Amino acid sequence: MAFPKQAEFLIIGAGIHGLSTAWRLAERLQAAGEKVEGRVLVIDKDGIAAGASGIACGVVRNNYFQPAMRNLMAHSVGVWESDMAAFSYHPVGYMQISSESMHEDVAQIYSEQQAIGYESVFIEGETKCRDYMKEMFSDWQAQNITSVLHEKRGGYANNTKAIYALAKKAEDLGVRILTGVEVTGMNTESASSAVKSVETNKGTIECNKLVVGAGPWVRDFWNMLELPKQIEVKDLSGEVHQDVDMWRYWQLEEGVLDVKPDTLMMNNGEMPPVLHVDTDAPLVSDVDGKVITEDMWGIYYKPDWHFGGVQGGAAPYKVNTPVDSVAIDPYGPSSPEFVASTDFAHMWVSALAHCHKRFEGHSNNYHREASGGIGCFTADSFPVFDTFNQNVSIIADSNHGYKMLGVGHLVADEVLGEEQDLLKPFRFDRFAKGELHPTSSSPFPWS
Ligand SMILES: Cc1cc2nc3c(=O)[nH]c(=O)nc-3n(C[C@H](O)[C@H](O)[C@H](O)COP(=O)(O)OP(=O)(O)OC[C@H]3O[C@@H](n4cnc5c(N)ncnc54)[C@H](O)[C@@H]3O)c2cc1C
Repeated sequence: MAFPKQAEFLIIGAGIHGLSTAWRLAERLQAAGEKVEGRVLVIDKDGIAAGASGIACGVVRNNYFQPAMRNLMAHSVGVWESDMAAFSYHPVGYMQISSESMHEDVAQIYSEQQAIGYESVFIEGETKCRDYMKEMFSDWQAQNITSVLHEKRGGYANNTKAIYALAKKAEDLGVRILTGVEVTGMNTESASSAVKSVETNKGTIECNKLVVGAGPWVRDFWNMLELPKQIEVKDLSGEVHQDVDMWRYWQLEEGVLDVKPDTLMMNNGEMPPVLHVDTDAPLVSDVDGKVITEDMWGIYYKPDWHFGGVQGGAAPYKVNTPVDSVAIDPYGPSSPEFVASTDFAHMWVSALAHCHKRFEGHSNNYHREASGGIGCFTADSFPVFDTFNQNVSIIADSNHGYKMLGVGHLVADEVLGEEQDLLKPFRFDRFAKGELHPTSSSPFPWS
């Protein structure tokens, strides 16, 4: 097939958002009795699932302190549930297990989940929490836990399998996906800022509507569109901060404990929910008994047959390199700079042992292969879903997004002219207007 010179709907990025947008666009066109072939084109400089979507832990949860994020996640969980087999989605649920400093925030999340009909259970008090956890895991031993939020929906998906399934759904409806096509520039209309074509390493492609789902590479597209690198941010107290970097990178620390995944089955032999523990109990090394930290720490983990062990992560760290100098490529485990550190491995396995006796003495089982990768976060660490230059939809999920399978659907509906209430709290002008999302006491920048 010849290299296309034109596409009505051109989508950059074959990750979760680009492909989900393409799938929905194709569904909508087909439902309207219109042709899809030749109109919806996805291009990617590398391949399907080559970016963050292909290395994500794959956790799907609703547990967010921000009402707008919770509403959005509830919508996305519905899309995951629409074809669990194809998406390799495991609806095992999700647990937020916390010490007292997070009790109030999590209680609020629970009550708001009840208000939107998202099924969850909330356990309060140290004894009740311990009993609840021991009912699931007889060797539970985490300290200082005073609340447990158990979401009955959510769970996790096998990262690349879900993305390949999405690509198949889009292609089956007539979407063309071209890999090895790198966007290098954009050409605007002479009379307006609308993008009329993109330059690629294989040739120029004209478009009517452009969707950018570029994950960690969003910085580069933002720069191509000459959007502001520094912005004004009005915080929730009304104070205005000038020259705040629009983007910043964080390194996601994740890894695998090389044990049989079913080591983490529950007392009843069933798959456990994804477990997320945040506590202020001192964390002691499982190797030498020395204190690793007396500050708040957090980990998440799950048994994972796709990764071949118990897989999970801990709080990320901020990349201090000036944002325009951060080397995104080679990405993920191939990066010489951004892979999980030995300190992470020590901390994470010790934290697993803090939670379950079964993991004591397992430090040598940490899988030493490179893992993790960087994510691009916005000025307030929440997504920006908005239209720029009149015809460019940018999906900048601030690294929240593997779970957001439904966002592409909502963006596709907007591309077709139907504004979506669920996306409105994520517009770019919230920074100037001071309409930021509330933040919680969690040690993670994404809760
Ligand atoms: C280690 C790690 C673990 C994570 N775990 C979770 C999790 O458990 N749950 C969760 O919800 N989220 C998780 N995330 C976040 C999530 O993975 C991302 O938010 C999401 O995958 C971003 O999807 P995307 O489609 O925007 O981008 P990506 O999946 O990164 O896709 C972007 C694509 O754009 C292409 N591209 C880039 N530049 C160009 C160009 N110039 N021309 C053409 N193509 C280009 C890339 O090749 C890439 O394929 C994790 C992230 C990391 C790094």
